[in-house]
Amino acid sequence: MSRTSLFGRIDPATDAGHEDPPPRKGFFTDTSVCIGCKACEVACKEWNGVPHSGLDLLGLSFDNTGALGADSWRHVAFIEQRRPPASTALLVLPADRTAATAGDGTGAPAADRTSALSVEVTAAPVGIPEAARSAPGEGTGAPVGIPEVAIPGVVSGSRADLRWLMASDVCKHCTHAACLDVCPTGSLFRTEFGTVVVQQDICNGCGYCVSACPYGVIDRRAGDGRAWKCTLCYDRLKGDLEPACAKACPTDSIQFGDLADLRRHADRRLAALHGAGVGEARLYGHDEDDGVGGDGAFFLLLDEAEVYGLPPDPVVATRDLPAMWRRAGVAALAMAAATVAAFVGGTGLRGGVGGGGTT
Ligand code: SF4
Ligand code: SF4
Ligand code: SF4
Repeated sequence: MSRTSLFGRIDPATDAGHEDPPPRKGFFTDTSVCIGCKACEVACKEWNGVPHSGLDLLGLSFDNTGALGADSWRHVAFIEQRRPPASTALLVLPADRTAATAGDGTGAPAADRTSALSVEVTAAPVGIPEAARSAPGEGTGAPVGIPEVAIPGVVSGSRADLRWLMASDVCKHCTHAACLDVCPTGSLFRTEFGTVVVQQDICNGCGYCVSACPYGVIDRRAGDGRAWKCTLCYDRLKGDLEPACAKACPTDSIQFGDLADLRRHADRRLAALHGAGVGEARLYGHDEDDGVGGDGAFFLLLDEAEVYGLPPDPVVATRDLPAMWRRAGVAALAMAAATVAAFVGGTGLRGGVGGGGTT
């Protein structure tokens, strides 16, 4: 029989009753190398048969998905900021993409990125003739009538004050998952990999999980009523395959592997970025002592969490349950004691009054 700890540091699979589970799996999404291609969104829909989420133009940059939802298990945010890129010093690409796949049977994190290839971004892009790169009338070549070419991430010209932040959001597969804690049917469950999966065949559509999730991830599907979200490709993990979104990501912004290894790698990546002058780089969901006990899917961000639409201090809804029940118990005992005291006191008073009347 499994038990569930409502808070504290735990191994969630063991805590859920799995005997001898494999190492906890998760995602480290390094948004500093996301190019916004949305291959992850498409791969997720393809593999999992997720319906399309409409072809809406939201008027919010190139973000036509808007948010995570029942039909968007990955959401690539495009955030336009009127400020220069923090640093163009370090663009990191994995040296060996094939080693990055945990589907190699090793269960290793997506590559040990200490071997990553560091590329200095310079003002000399590949494939653009010098003449075309020069503003008309400037540079080494004669003007050819091509407007100034802006190199992504390189400060130049009148658009130097604009930067894009791109980030692929997903279910966090929380250590303490509120959605799972409140589900009355057992539709949500903890897998042996430490991930959180919803079984639609026993979901009754009550929506408790929707209001409990501190990230606003899980959602009921219109016309269906049941709750849907990322499964961290449970079926693929069972087959020792990398999740579809991570497999499709061309820059390894989405890295899959053993969570402990990913956390160590994230620390190294953060130190490298800070060393390269990207002081605003930070990890999100990486702290095992935060309000959800740390996330199974955590992120490297280049700005405050709120900028990406993420809550700055998420707390699992059930964290305070033990304290609440303790206080309720104390209150109940106090009320019972007061009731007894009032009864005994009232009886004594009546006895005293009655005794006086007989004399
Ligand atoms: S609480 Fe929300 S983010 Fe955490 S596992 Fe559940 S749906 Fe995912
Ligand atoms: S892990 Fe699988 S289900 Fe989750 S977002 Fe990626 S592709 Fe979709
Ligand atoms: S996370 Fe990877 S696949 Fe998704 S948009 Fe970014 S670069 Fe593309």
